[in-house]
Amino acid sequence: MRWEQKVQSAADSDIGLRRKNNQDAFTVQFSSSVEDWQRRGHLFIVADGMGGHAVGELASKMAVDSIPLTYFKSRNESIAEALTEAIEKANAEIHQRGMENRDFNRMGTTCVALVLCHKGAIVGHVGDSRCYRVRGDRIEQLTFDHSLEWELTRAGRLKPGEAFLPEAKHVITRSLGPEPAADVDIDGPFIVFPGDRFLLCSDGLTGHVPDHEIGMIVHSLPPDEAARLLINLANMRGGSDNVTVVIADCGPLPEGGAAPAPETPQQPVEPAVGAFWMLFFWLTILVIGIGAVLIATRHWIGGGVFTGLGAASLFALIAHWQRKRPVPMGNMPDTEIPPQTYREASARPTQEFLAGLARLKRELRELAADENWTIDWPAHDRAVAAAREALDRKHVARAMSEIGKAVDCLMTGLHAHRKKVRLAKMASEHAEADQRAAEQLAAELREAEQAEVTEHDAELSED
Ligand code: CA
Repeated sequence: MRWEQKVQSAADSDIGLRRKNNQDAFTVQFSSSVEDWQRRGHLFIVADGMGGHAVGELASKMAVDSIPLTYFKSRNESIAEALTEAIEKANAEIHQRGMENRDFNRMGTTCVALVLCHKGAIVGHVGDSRCYRVRGDRIEQLTFDHSLEWELTRAGRLKPGEAFLPEAKHVITRSLGPEPAADVDIDGPFIVFPGDRFLLCSDGLTGHVPDHEIGMIVHSLPPDEAARLLINLANMRGGSDNVTVVIADCGPLPEGGAAPAPETPQQPVEPAVGAFWMLFFWLTILVIGIGAVLIATRHWIGGGVFTGLGAASLFALIAHWQRKRPVPMGNMPDTEIPPQTYREASARPTQEFLAGLARLKRELRELAADENWTIDWPAHDRAVAAAREALDRKHVARAMSEIGKAVDCLMTGLHAHRKKVRLAKMASEHAEADQRAAEQLAAELREAEQAEVTEHDAELSED
């Protein structure tokens, strides 16, 4: 990646519809000079805290405050090592805070940190908050979830795609805070191509929105619109958890800039390797063909040699394609060597997705009308009309953007409505409490008066 490639980012965090507080946190820190960028790159972090009361909130906030401080100050020349050290230090600090106070005992947080630098994209993480890359119409998960489900699948105790206990889905096997030392995973460096988009998120998003839908939205919309729609979609499907999304969009190379070169020997040079193996494939077919012709014309030795050679090449080809084949959705790698990415899916927008999104929006619209939410109806109707027109012209990205705007009008109305209901409830609770306090005061006064009268009577009888 080059410094001249301007990175656009969008980040947002939402409490969701069920939780009383938001225990997620995020930070985005750009290097402001080419020198700083060469040394450390741009840093993006999402953390998802856990623990009762305000404990999770504190843990995730400590992570997003502490990691950049240590990382940017570090003198370690290796970006991966500096990132690991920064995450380990945050773990030690959170652990220490947890030990100081019994209420904070075992406070913890997940953490996923992405660095975009001259080496490419480097990801450090602990827990099940994820990092994805959207390139063209593919989405790839770059991090391995430290969750019970993923660990059991990796150990072969759970079959890929096998149904897992819903209540155990969010059980994580690693986090920052509960233990004195943290085991940090580093993935990458991944080559960054112009137009690559990276997404960091908490499990509040992935619990409601599957990978291919995340891919379609991030692929089709500018980062700020994509972040809004992802959060709105998670909330429309229940909003059972806090949702946090950070998107980084890597801009084009400067005029005449060279294409990115591979940064490490393991990086695949996909187009060149693909072309080589395609040539190899056609040569194999040619060799087998020649062998067959020779055998047909009774040139047994030549025919045998060519057919044998062709069969060996075919075997090599099949072995190569087996190794290269991406792990399908729901599958886990079964080798000790971590693969380049952990899962991948198509991010190509589909009519079904748009139709489903439009259906959800219609249901929400009916609810809004029934419950009389305050909605910016002119903006909503304009977006719906523009979405219809875009659909007629088969302009999928535009249609998604307009449906997203209409959804946002409705969700803004929903949040305002919920706030009004909450405030009304609080006011009525206050009024009830005031009433109870007034009644109690009156009762106490009556009792005091009664006691005075009795005392006075007693005094009189003594006299
Ligand atoms: Ca969460």
